[in-house]
Amino acid sequence: MTSPALHDLSVAELARQLQKREVSAVEAAQHFLGRIQATPELGAFVALNEEATLTQARAADERIAAGQARALDGVPIAHKDIFVTKNFPSTAGSKMLAGYQSPFDATVVTRLADAGAVTLGKLNCDEFAMGSANENSAIAPLGFEQPAPVRNPWDSSRVPGGSSGGSAAAVAARLAPAVTGTDTGGSIRQPASFCGITGIKPTYGRASRYGMIAFASSLDQAGPMARSAEDCALLLSAICGPDPDRDSTSLDVPAEDFSRSLNDSIEGLRIGVPAEFFGEGLAPDVRAAVDGALKEYEKLGATLVPISLPRTELSIPVYYIIAPAEASSNLSRFDGVKFGHRAKDYGDLTDMYKKTRAEGFGDEVKRRIMIGAYVLSHGYYDAYYLQAQKIRRMIADDFQQAFKSCDVIAGPVAPTVAWKLGEKSADPVANYLADIFTLPGSLAGLPGMSLPAGFGEGGMPVGLQLIGNYFGESRLLNAAHRFQQATDFHLRRPEGVK
Ligand code: GLN
Repeated sequence: MTSPALHDLSVAELARQLQKREVSAVEAAQHFLGRIQATPELGAFVALNEEATLTQARAADERIAAGQARALDGVPIAHKDIFVTKNFPSTAGSKMLAGYQSPFDATVVTRLADAGAVTLGKLNCDEFAMGSANENSAIAPLGFEQPAPVRNPWDSSRVPGGSSGGSAAAVAARLAPAVTGTDTGGSIRQPASFCGITGIKPTYGRASRYGMIAFASSLDQAGPMARSAEDCALLLSAICGPDPDRDSTSLDVPAEDFSRSLNDSIEGLRIGVPAEFFGEGLAPDVRAAVDGALKEYEKLGATLVPISLPRTELSIPVYYIIAPAEASSNLSRFDGVKFGHRAKDYGDLTDMYKKTRAEGFGDEVKRRIMIGAYVLSHGYYDAYYLQAQKIRRMIADDFQQAFKSCDVIAGPVAPTVAWKLGEKSADPVANYLADIFTLPGSLAGLPGMSLPAGFGEGGMPVGLQLIGNYFGESRLLNAAHRFQQATDFHLRRPEGVK
């Protein structure tokens, strides 16, 4: 039997081989860098720095040789370009930050580096993480002269999902064994679902937001994306934990070893199935795959419990008021003075602000700034923003009501499989509506994940969403891992990916 190629190894297996010195960190890094350079057509990567990558890899090899291996020593990973990094430009997919060089690393980046992971590069994303298709990036991916959408490795005429589309595409195409993403309203779960990989967004506050370029601060959360729950658990264990000096919303909950309970039995696990996630808008192919996954869970000893999340539909208007409101305020820092782009020709200061922001931001970002400024303005604040905050609380309460009768909640991640490039790009509302199943959990700040659950129309992957109660990450990963022990959806690969 020939041994599997490096890029087919799981993070767990690769870490084991690295520690046994069957492969070196430098070899692993070079292998993946070679694959990334040979696969520009996906548009997944926006920056590499071979020297920095190999320096990190050599340090990992030295620690391993000295018997001081760390948990992820030598494992190559890549970061969504929303995390600031010292060794790579940090753009958030925006012209506003093109070429921006951060003087420091985001906490998530530091924590993974401290665990020994080696950074391969930065991944394309929607501008300031606003989008569901990764068609909103203003940065030219590696190998491109102009900005280009990320493509789905399962079908290059389709979107990979967004906003962490580069992250999901890279894992599916085996350009990295694992990556980071961020999820404000679904951006880890939905691209994971569209690209047939596994991703988890922890409880709001478990991962530090320090150095994550802000979109909507009360919702933004970082998390890992990889092929399996087991691999996500390894990364999540490194990422989570308090960061009191740098992120005031980081919670005082100690880091946890999320791998420990992966194999626990799920006999008797009560899985809540919200009626509202299976209504008219759900495409039949997605429904069939999700139903199949729920049946599999029953075989594994879980019990399905019908539940209701009555305000599911309201999560769309609520999110698309709150997220733009926070974005309009967060993005006010991009004024041509402190960071990044500044217009060349301008008259007075106000003219400089106007021209800088008109040139630097893309259409979707401008749309959100306008919506946000509107819902926060005098006279509209009570009618929109305040109402949305009240309903947000009710949505969170609905989950607490549901968790009285179940341990985790399961349903689809998105109403359809990945759509065609360009199909919804002229219609922002069509994009917003596709977020319906991920937004409720985001608004409530709950942990959620997506795991491969089958295939739908055009042979495209379908994800199953699992939502847990606060700090229920271990349970989610355990439920996902047991499912992955019994199924092989997460091991399937896109046809063109060798
Ligand atoms: N699609 C949602 C939006 O555009 C979610 C994005 C995200 O989670 N970053 O806001």
